[in-house]
Amino acid sequence: MSNNGTENFRIDVADAVRLIAERMPDYAAVRVPLAETQGAILRERVTAERDQPPFDRVTMDGICVRAAALANGTRRFRVVGVQAAGADAIAVGDDGHCVEIMTGAMLPADADTVIPVERIRPEGDHVVLEDDYAPSPGQFVHRRGTDHGEGQTMLEPGVTIGAAEMAALTIGGKTELEVSRWPDIAIVSTGDELVDVGEALEPFQIRSSNDRAIAAALERLGCFTGHRARLPDDPAELRAEIGRLHAEHDVLILSGGVSMGKYDYVPQIMEELGAELVFHKILQKPGLPMWFGTSVTGKPLFALPGNPVSTLVCAARYVIPAIRAAMGLTARRQPRLRLAEPLTFEPDLTCFMPVELSFTDDGAVLAIPKPTNTSGDFVSLAGTDGFVELERGRDDFPAGHPVDFYRW
Ligand code: AMP
Ligand code: MG
Repeated sequence: MSNNGTENFRIDVADAVRLIAERMPDYAAVRVPLAETQGAILRERVTAERDQPPFDRVTMDGICVRAAALANGTRRFRVVGVQAAGADAIAVGDDGHCVEIMTGAMLPADADTVIPVERIRPEGDHVVLEDDYAPSPGQFVHRRGTDHGEGQTMLEPGVTIGAAEMAALTIGGKTELEVSRWPDIAIVSTGDELVDVGEALEPFQIRSSNDRAIAAALERLGCFTGHRARLPDDPAELRAEIGRLHAEHDVLILSGGVSMGKYDYVPQIMEELGAELVFHKILQKPGLPMWFGTSVTGKPLFALPGNPVSTLVCAARYVIPAIRAAMGLTARRQPRLRLAEPLTFEPDLTCFMPVELSFTDDGAVLAIPKPTNTSGDFVSLAGTDGFVELERGRDDFPAGHPVDFYRW
């Protein structure tokens, strides 16, 4: 199936997202020690190991007494013991008695109310309540099971494990977890002009930034990229290397060589290697020439336009979300914010506009457009937070227009 020069495969952004999602494999989960799950996507349901709190937990340093004693007018108590957090509960034993007790301690079974240390004064081996202080029965006790009960679901599959999830997993008593494994990703820049850092440059050559930029975008999320390389615009070499790479890796991300130039061999090489063309060209700017297909063994092949801004936009808008969804990440609504300034654009194309976020004093989040000079103007992207998507079909967007935001 060839589409050289035709418009047949110009599709819009939503269709591109859907077509990629339909062809992504389901990446398997792996079992790893808890310590290695930070940043990973959870793939199992995690339930509570015990009631939470697991016992009637005292929430103030002070003394514990019986509400019945307070109701009878008792305001002076004999201290019969000290109850620390992490120790088994002792007994109060009598209405005129109290136990000194610490935050986090288990409430004695025969007490029910805690008086904070600020509200009592010592008198030998007794304590006396502050004048006029009227404690509420049952105060400063976090009752067993009131956060959740044993066996109750704490975390659903599909969440990313951050600090709060790590705390919940620990409470769940987990030593090992099912999480998603990043697929092995190969990133390849193509172009005769490309030279890596540390290598000598001829005047007609440029530094290859795309492969490092894509790797950085992925590795920020915890992905380990299995292979990063550059290839010349040479059909034989491209065929051999792309053939080898898609056999050895789970995902192939190429940049460059997908446009209409004489040396843009990538779509043709993919076809020669038996790849299924899913689409070529998306009605968007930057990034119109993006190509997507699947290998003979069903692996996703992303070929992104070489312009550095196009490459990074396409990686953030299509490639990375598709891989994370295939890893089991639950979809959430894209953050939505408002344009800080009016913009005009070509109505036939979806516009991806780099932006810097601005947080106003009254709590609004605004997107300040940071147009690049060209889609090769990578340096002006540094310092931007991401980009917004301006829908196709209109040419002017007023200040305050709501837009979806994508972080780099
Ligand atoms: P292409 O998509 O191959 O036509 O490339 C479009 C533009 O992006 C050309 O100016 C290339 O030199 C440039 N380009 C392609 N690959 C890279 C890369 N890895 N790093 C920086 N610029 C690139
Ligand atoms: Mg090129």
